[in-house]
Amino acid sequence: MVDVRAMLAAARRRRQALGSFNVFNLETVEAVLAAAVARRCPVIVAFTERMAADFDLEAVALLVRHRAAALPISVGLHLDHSQNEAGILRALRAGFTSVMYDGADIPYEEKVRRTRAIAEMAHAEGLCVEAELGHVARGSRKGEVLAEPSLVGDFVKRTGVDIVAVAIGSVHGLKAGEAHLDFGRLRAIRRETDAHLSLHGSSGIADAELRRGIREGITKISYFTAASRAASLAMRQTWGSGRDVPPYAVLSIAARRAFLAQVEERLAVYAGRRGR
Ligand SMILES: [Zn+2]
Repeated sequence: MVDVRAMLAAARRRRQALGSFNVFNLETVEAVLAAAVARRCPVIVAFTERMAADFDLEAVALLVRHRAAALPISVGLHLDHSQNEAGILRALRAGFTSVMYDGADIPYEEKVRRTRAIAEMAHAEGLCVEAELGHVARGSRKGEVLAEPSLVGDFVKRTGVDIVAVAIGSVHGLKAGEAHLDFGRLRAIRRETDAHLSLHGSSGIADAELRRGIREGITKISYFTAASRAASLAMRQTWGSGRDVPPYAVLSIAARRAFLAQVEERLAVYAGRRGR
């Protein structure tokens, strides 16, 4: 496993973005790693804390570390959208190399205080730390709060985080073209800080806008929804064939392949190669 901060610095030098892909089981971990190997790209395997009831953090870490040790690419392991210190501590002990603290709903000053404490704890163990400013909504614009550029510099200085997830118009869970990035806001944020900027909700943004976002300073992109939809579709088609289909064919082959293809395509876009 490689320091995610070094992976981000390399992405910035190459004017690319590092892909961070959410996984929820064995097949999705295998798909993300195989796609990254096929594209010869560094990759972040991300695990959202709310999935931990079904696939525990320690099992994810063992699996990813075991696989990554044998691969010719850099692999980071990231805890996504953690809402509490306990989850972050658990990820740190399990061997994650990066954590995101999502203090979405708490007031600014308290968020600064809690984020700084988490950043100090995680940095002492050599982990990369991401926090969110503004709020990237889920499913619709309800609850969306765009990131305030003037706060970003202050937030990074006072918390010491490595990556700021900036709410600049994307929404978790949409289809490509359903949301648009606010490039004026992105530029204003860029002027305020040298921290890495990450984009969540990227499935809703068309590729041309993603490429422009990367050119204008986004160095980490989180991706999940479109790959998840592609896997669901592949599973339905396999079941629907009418034959006696074993679960292996649905999960281990159809779903994994569809997920893998989506991740491969995204990696090409984030690396500035041709995609959708
Ligand atoms: Zn997210």
